[in-house]
Amino acid sequence: MTENNKTEVIVVGAGPGGISCAITLARAGKKVVLIERGSFAGSKNVFGGAIYTRPTKEIFPDFEISAPLERRNVEHKFAILGEDDSTVVSYKNKTEICGSYTVIRGKFDRWMAEEAKKAGVYLVEKTVVRELLTENGKVTGVRTELEDYYADIVVLADGVNSLLAKQIGLREDIQPKDVALSVKEVIKLDKEKINDRFNISDDEGCIYEIFGGPMLGMLGLGFMYTNRNSVTIGLGITLSELVERGIRPYDLLEKLKSHPTIAPLIKDGELEEYSAHLIPEGGYKKVPKLFADGVMVVGDAAMLVNNLHWEGTNLAMISGKLAAETAIEAFNKNDFSAKSLQRYEEKLKNSFVMKDLVTYKDLMDIAHKKSDAFLDYYLRTVNSFFKMFTSVDSIPKRQKYYNFIGNFFKERKFLNIISDIWHGIRLIWSILKWY
Ligand SMILES: Cc1cc2nc3c(=O)[nH]c(=O)nc-3n(C[C@H](O)[C@H](O)[C@H](O)COP(=O)(O)OP(=O)(O)OC[C@H]3O[C@@H](n4cnc5c(N)ncnc54)[C@H](O)[C@@H]3O)c2cc1C
Repeated sequence: MTENNKTEVIVVGAGPGGISCAITLARAGKKVVLIERGSFAGSKNVFGGAIYTRPTKEIFPDFEISAPLERRNVEHKFAILGEDDSTVVSYKNKTEICGSYTVIRGKFDRWMAEEAKKAGVYLVEKTVVRELLTENGKVTGVRTELEDYYADIVVLADGVNSLLAKQIGLREDIQPKDVALSVKEVIKLDKEKINDRFNISDDEGCIYEIFGGPMLGMLGLGFMYTNRNSVTIGLGITLSELVERGIRPYDLLEKLKSHPTIAPLIKDGELEEYSAHLIPEGGYKKVPKLFADGVMVVGDAAMLVNNLHWEGTNLAMISGKLAAETAIEAFNKNDFSAKSLQRYEEKLKNSFVMKDLVTYKDLMDIAHKKSDAFLDYYLRTVNSFFKMFTSVDSIPKRQKYYNFIGNFFKERKFLNIISDIWHGIRLIWSILKWY
């Protein structure tokens, strides 16, 4: 730290967004202070989960050799759960370059933070930033419990709640329908059991995305990831849904764990960790103002999450990197005004981060309107189709098809089906349309 606690850039929050921003700046020779409230980077972070190879390599080119990774994901399964049956679709590819790895954030974030320190970042841990300091409307620094720090630019990477972005009016209170409450457990299991049950070898991993089951009709998804010696299982449900229905997410997780398709996978496992965290779900329409005089917002704090694909770390990392590049340009011009930092928004719009959020910009609106159809009726219909198709019961096949079609129209009104098709087409159109 330099004289009078003045540095060039302060980054608040040592998650993937903050660390990527800080390390990019330090590598460019900038003086950076990275402030984290946890006892170490990653100690407060909750996650499934998988980190993605391509974006991670942009920040840490050699991470596959040196980072603490759990397993290389070779299989992705999509499981539609009924009350006690399921349909599982699987995509497996052992040979192609790996797209993602499972990691334990407590270890992985700590490793990223060490890399940042090696690059010259000044990491301050166990310190909460209480408020932003401003002068004539420009952010000039931060106030922690102990002291004030000053900088030309402050980057907010303080996660989903970002009280600091709220303090300076960049964003409003998050609405319960724009955020999911996620609960997860890490279940300790022998490596051999994991390999047998998931049909993988020692360094290979398998991801489950889970629809329906205890979440039928709710805006929510479940997940399972294999680590070296444990399995992570969890689910995320929109907060408004939990409040309206008066449901406790932990009860849903218990039901998920006892589903006949899931229970054998985690049988005899020992609970190692339980945690809960919010995930921003508002998408493109809820992205807040991303910059102001002397300040930029990255990662979850800026609502940059692609919830359908469980992508968040990659959007955080790349937004952090782009904010750092914008800061470097600002130093070259010696201009830290909002006008100068606006480049950050332009860079985000040209990257996959904003392009993907635009692609799914109508997803949540339609999902809220049609959860009874797409997250209940049609999921159950998939399972009843396969039940009908696979059962051998001496009923002539043509008769079974007619019965199935008859039930399909009996259980859902014709006008509802037309409305579902209309919303389905609208969704596909909004995804495929070029902007
Ligand atoms: C259950 C669950 C599963 C997920 N699964 C995946 C997955 O499989 N793949 C994926 O890519 N993403 C996943 N995500 C999303 C992903 O975890 C986030 O998108 C990502 O962590 C965002 O990174 P970030 O750096 O913006 O914020 P965070 O990782 O939340 O980091 C913010 C940091 O700021 C610190 N902080 C906050 N306030 C202050 C303050 N005032 N002062 C100092 N420090 C502060 C926090 O302690 C924290 O370390 C999942 C999320 C959840 C909850």
